[in-house]
Amino acid sequence: MLIDAHVHLDKYGDLLDEALEQIETERIFTVATAMDIASYLELRKIGDRSELVLPTFGIHPRRAAEYANRLPELGRNIETSPAIGEIGLDFHWVKDTSTYSAQRKVLEFFIAAAAEQNKFVNLHTKAGEKEILDLLEKYDVRRAIIHWYSGPLDILRAMIDFGCYFTIGVEVHYSEHIKAIAKLIPDHLLLTETDNPGALKWLNKNDEIGMPMAIQNVVNKVAELRQSTPEQTEDLVHDNFARLLANDPALNDYLITAFKRTLS
Ligand SMILES: [Zn+2]
Repeated sequence: MLIDAHVHLDKYGDLLDEALEQIETERIFTVATAMDIASYLELRKIGDRSELVLPTFGIHPRRAAEYANRLPELGRNIETSPAIGEIGLDFHWVKDTSTYSAQRKVLEFFIAAAAEQNKFVNLHTKAGEKEILDLLEKYDVRRAIIHWYSGPLDILRAMIDFGCYFTIGVEVHYSEHIKAIAKLIPDHLLLTETDNPGALKWLNKNDEIGMPMAIQNVVNKVAELRQSTPEQTEDLVHDNFARLLANDPALNDYLITAFKRTLS
């Protein structure tokens, strides 16, 4: 089973039906990450339509400034979410430095909740890689997916030593740095993602909407780089994701029947 560990399903608009159909016919287990509260509420509705979609609550670092003084509201939504994401820091693309303290405040709130509720996290780390690793260590959050890592290799190695999982995504087709990272990640920590629907458009500065089957191209490329086969890479990523979810207390009472069937 293909695993897409980071997708913005609520951004598909008119193409949502088609995207869900592809997810079902191609059997792609999909972690649907939120940008903010409205996005999460939308994802929960989408999640009701497919047993292969896991909606998760987070506040994207771009949106953090709006929520820094609304932590109790965030807490109530975290309670209902089986996992956490998208959360993180962005000190690179977000140029407004006045938001950075809010980003830190919101992120630490989520990490503390993840530790307390034993939920896995899905992290955006752009130029905040070291700070994020420090936070994971401080709260001993071991079940972390680092999404689209593109930072320095020494911090990548420290994150690997800590046991973080890493998603390789569509930039693996274009960037030598990402190709190097795709080769460096140890077998047991490798995951895949698309960051659909906007990632290809963002990378290529065109109108291309990423559809769910873009995950197959990522798997094929990762397999080639790691001198493996697409089938072996798909199985490896599946086993890693299964390990990440194994014995997850929050997911026990959540509907991931399709995925659980494939675990046995
Ligand atoms: Zn994202």
